[in-house]
Amino acid sequence: MVDFLQLAVEHEQNVIEWRRHLHRNPELSGREKETAKFVSNVLKSFGVGEVDIVGETGVAALIRGGCAGKTLALRADMDALPGEEKTGLPFSSKNPEAAHLCGHDAHTAILLGVAQILHSLKEKFSGNVRLVFQPAEENLTGAKLMIRGGVLDSPEVDCIAGLHLWPALPAGTVGLRYGASMAAADSVKIEFRGSQGHAAHPHECVDPLLMAGQFLVNVQAIVSREIAPADSAVLSFGKISGGTVGNIIPDKVLLEGSIRTLLPETRERMAAALERFASSAAQGMRGEASVTISRGVPPLASSTELLALFENSAKELLGADRVVHLVAPSMGSEDFAYYLERVPGFFFRIGVARQGELMRPLHSAAFDPDESSFKTGVAVLCRFAMDFLARE
Ligand SMILES: [Zn+2]
Ligand SMILES: [Zn+2]
Repeated sequence: MVDFLQLAVEHEQNVIEWRRHLHRNPELSGREKETAKFVSNVLKSFGVGEVDIVGETGVAALIRGGCAGKTLALRADMDALPGEEKTGLPFSSKNPEAAHLCGHDAHTAILLGVAQILHSLKEKFSGNVRLVFQPAEENLTGAKLMIRGGVLDSPEVDCIAGLHLWPALPAGTVGLRYGASMAAADSVKIEFRGSQGHAAHPHECVDPLLMAGQFLVNVQAIVSREIAPADSAVLSFGKISGGTVGNIIPDKVLLEGSIRTLLPETRERMAAALERFASSAAQGMRGEASVTISRGVPPLASSTELLALFENSAKELLGADRVVHLVAPSMGSEDFAYYLERVPGFFFRIGVARQGELMRPLHSAAFDPDESSFKTGVAVLCRFAMDFLARE
């Protein structure tokens, strides 16, 4: 077996330089044109032949192995976040309005390193490696764009792997979680309707503000009484609008909120319960309610079988003590879940914390991952690819 740790060390400087270039030149979700051009040029410089720009801001490439076989897709996201970087690093963002605060610059550079190594070893594996450099993860639209662009078809993908830097884990480790690991994110709008009139004559009106008030207090009973304690769900309302002045009871009130769930069945249960709570609050006060749920990203759960295969590859490569089982899922969302709706695969984390240092979280203006972690990401992905696509 090839020594992937050694190979990753040999490619480390390239990966760090690509990452610093991307870090200096961040582009916001949906505007990654220069990033896509850079990625495509780097891939072509290794001799990767089949490189395509997808929808102006994404890049798909294919490395064909020595003979026919399965297809493994590897996905990195490429977009930055709005805001100013405050790391003080010499390769800080040149753009005061955008910065790589979620580490997608590193994801992209790691995948380029993987591409360089796997391309040089292509005669040693069967099947294909599909490289997916995705734009617009932060606004959760890029995965759909890449799927529409055909990255999971021709050749059909048998497994897709995605990664994310993880500041809660030390550099040199990887993290994984079986079952649900990230939440579905849906948004909800609820309109309560009554009938308008004078505040001094409430009996001649039907008051939607009171319906909304009662609903807001009662609705948290869904999470506490209808969702299993060991499961998780979040229901938060962030906006309420209705009415004009203090002495008029308005005819309608609109609530807007966000729903996070970890399991598909919990997602359905939450939607049904919201309908029930809204209509009971309205009907109890002679009013009406309508609930509109906009489905966002689905929950993210890795395939148990493929994650176990990855865990095995990672343990053989890094040692068992460097493969960490994450205890709790994240209630954040990842549009990688859209790929997993279509094909089996898994998601894992790369530890990026420096020893003895309190790590700034993802999306912090001072987020500064330990660059020595990148080679771990490169090595572990190459090793898994080789194990998954081993020639019979
Ligand atoms: Zn992010
Ligand atoms: Zn991210």
